[in-house]
Amino acid sequence: MKIWLDGRLADKADARLSVFDHGTLYGDGVFEGIRVYSGKIFECQAHVERLFASAAKVRLTIPYTRQQIVEAMQQTLAANAMTDGYIRLVVTRGEGTLGLSPFKCPRGSVFVIADQIELYPREMYDRGMPVIVARTRRTSPTMLDPSVKSLNYLNNIMAKLEALDAGVGEAIMLNDRGEVSEATGDNIFIIKGGGVLTPPVSAGILQGVTRRVVMELCAAAGIDCREQTILPAELYAADECFLTGTAAEVIPVTKIDNRPIASGEVGPISRRLIKAFYEFIRR
Ligand code: PMP
Repeated sequence: MKIWLDGRLADKADARLSVFDHGTLYGDGVFEGIRVYSGKIFECQAHVERLFASAAKVRLTIPYTRQQIVEAMQQTLAANAMTDGYIRLVVTRGEGTLGLSPFKCPRGSVFVIADQIELYPREMYDRGMPVIVARTRRTSPTMLDPSVKSLNYLNNIMAKLEALDAGVGEAIMLNDRGEVSEATGDNIFIIKGGGVLTPPVSAGILQGVTRRVVMELCAAAGIDCREQTILPAELYAADECFLTGTAAEVIPVTKIDNRPIASGEVGPISRRLIKAFYEFIRR
């Protein structure tokens, strides 16, 4: 496997960062996860823009242009002869000294991995996935803007551990007001009375690229879809539920905290949107 690291392609075993990189020392950095379908980088511009927006919000200078970042991804795909898979694009603060100050890191590091990813067992895409509501709350926007896709995922990892301890693959996180925000690495949608609902950005979520695509697919299909505050009680009482994310794609949820959602079967609107999503990526 070839890794693109700071301007050159290296073998996986040789692609190394300094232990003094603030990405490693402090989780100081930003990243993107991006799908590749049939040789095409899915929603490439949206991901590159979000990477630069995340970096700007934490005052991290990416030492390449947007075009160079796209070329780095294309070179990595070509070097690995990959046409379908998952790209991990990472920008760290770079090598510095001990101590938090990012000003001690003269230049950020960029690397690109092209690999495969499977978050949840394949059969759950058909039959639905059980999840829990985590006790761990999602980081408040007053602490760290959740729209920054940063290398600090410990908040999400703590919730993921709760899910794994409970024997399920995913956890829904509430924000500090007790409203539904998102899953540990996915956005959430519920369906109630034929309408599709997803928490607003103000609920403290990462603005998912897949979330936006699904909202557009709803609009194109004439399905009412809106951003609305969702309380845990509304989650349990939903007719249907699904999660969206680059790695997850669109996965139906059929059980929350051991309670079946409606009949416990994957519902018709979820099925329709999952089908529309796969048609969209193959277009
Ligand atoms: N929320 C979080 C916390 C995420 O990490 C992700 C991405 N894995 C998402 C939502 C989904 O975003 P996207 O659709 O852009 O992958």
